[in-house]
Amino acid sequence: MTYYLASSGVLVAAFVISSLTGAPGIVGNVLGQTALIVGLVAIVSGMRRHRLASACPWLLVAATLLVLVAGLMPPGVLAGTASPPSIADVFYLSSYAAGGLGLLLTIRRRTPDWGLPGLLDSGIVTVSAGLLTWIYLIDPILSAADIGVAPRLVAAAYPLCDLMLAGLGARLLLDGGPKSVAVLSITGYLALTIIPDTLNTLDALAGQTRWTVLVSLLWMISGLVLGLAWVHPSVRDLYASRAVENLDLGPARLSVLMVATLLAPAAQFLQYVRGAQTYVPLICVSCAVMFVLVIARLGGVVAVQRRMVVTDMLTGLHSRRYFESASARLPRRSDRAVAVLMLDIDHFKKINDTYGHDGGDRVLREIARRLSQSVRPGDVLARYGGEEFVVLMPDTLPRDARLVAERVREAVCSRPVDVNDDVDIIVTVSVGVACRPDDVAEADHLTPFADRMLYSAKESGRNRVVTASDQVPVDASVG
Ligand code: GH3
Ligand code: MG
Ligand code: MG
Repeated sequence: MTYYLASSGVLVAAFVISSLTGAPGIVGNVLGQTALIVGLVAIVSGMRRHRLASACPWLLVAATLLVLVAGLMPPGVLAGTASPPSIADVFYLSSYAAGGLGLLLTIRRRTPDWGLPGLLDSGIVTVSAGLLTWIYLIDPILSAADIGVAPRLVAAAYPLCDLMLAGLGARLLLDGGPKSVAVLSITGYLALTIIPDTLNTLDALAGQTRWTVLVSLLWMISGLVLGLAWVHPSVRDLYASRAVENLDLGPARLSVLMVATLLAPAAQFLQYVRGAQTYVPLICVSCAVMFVLVIARLGGVVAVQRRMVVTDMLTGLHSRRYFESASARLPRRSDRAVAVLMLDIDHFKKINDTYGHDGGDRVLREIARRLSQSVRPGDVLARYGGEEFVVLMPDTLPRDARLVAERVREAVCSRPVDVNDDVDIIVTVSVGVACRPDDVAEADHLTPFADRMLYSAKESGRNRVVTASDQVPVDASVG
């Protein structure tokens, strides 16, 4: 790593000095090719050192090699808007295809589930970048009157390929995974090729050579930055898949999306002020697409937030909030039978104290699993508090409610629960039952009543069901 950074620094310094001292162009070319070779060597040796058996970097190696070959061509055959299509164009454009494929495979491996939120975010950025690319690069190239159709199409292919790389780069950067050195190096490499390409095209369109030195410098640095990804240990996690269901819209991401969406009207305003073509239909369509993507993204965020509010994160059961809103939906006064079970794990504090909170959490998850297997599909099972659970059972008579309560109690204590990899213990629950219309007249009173019955079950020895109808423990076998 240190050697790599030092040799990169020397190459960049040599390039800057050669440019400042007006050294012959060949010196800069040689330094540029050397930087690409250094980057290539870094990728190949990094793959060996980190034992990465992946096709993705090989495609990036191929892309870099193709650029290297194209760069070795005599200047006459190099690409540019004014030069005819040449063999160098074939190498350059193939390098985009190889690099793009390598990136695509990398992205697929990182997000096997497509990672919809990241896809939408990068879609917004790509539409915005595509719009600017069309207005400021592709359309002017295609409308250039002084060159033939074939050179125009070839020249337009470059910004198009850069747009593809920008989209893939945005996808990689916004996929929700950590912004490791490897990820930042690859996206940095993309930026350092796209920016000089764009400056080059703008120069060619203006018939000027304002950016030549900067372009060569950025191209040179790009190869070194790409190599850095494989020198750094974070490359080992580059291909690890990450399931990011809830990709947060943090300030940085929101700023990126805001800038991306505002660029479309800004570009139109700029064109209008300059008295240039305003691209009304194109910008309308782009804005419409971005609106749809933004709304889809917000819809996803709202859906995830809503799911989080009604789901208990530890057990995956419904939350107390969900239970309360389900209870509130019951008609307040009605003769329709409804029952509530309130369950509390016995001596749970002792489990926590003996096996730690990890052990306690494990027990909570397992009990939740057993409970969900013991209730019927129409019942609402929720985690009410720390180690308390509730079941709302519509259309259930007191006799059936007690049967379900017994079944649930049995399901919990019938088999030991693993508290850690070595220890399993018997866990028990106490259950209180409340029924309407037998015990209470109003739906609101069901839960407090069940709570009182639960208290009674605890008082009378735990691991038992207590209903109001008899106030007699059903199972007093365990005290
Ligand atoms: P009882 O038989 O009377 O119900 O006794 P208990 O020890 O189960 O009752 P208590 O209310 O004293 O203890 C409940 C414990 O549950 C205390 C609290 O630390 C623990 N707890 C609450 N939420 C969680 C959680 O999410 N994870 C873990 N591991 N423990 C929790
Ligand atoms: Mg409790
Ligand atoms: Mg308890």
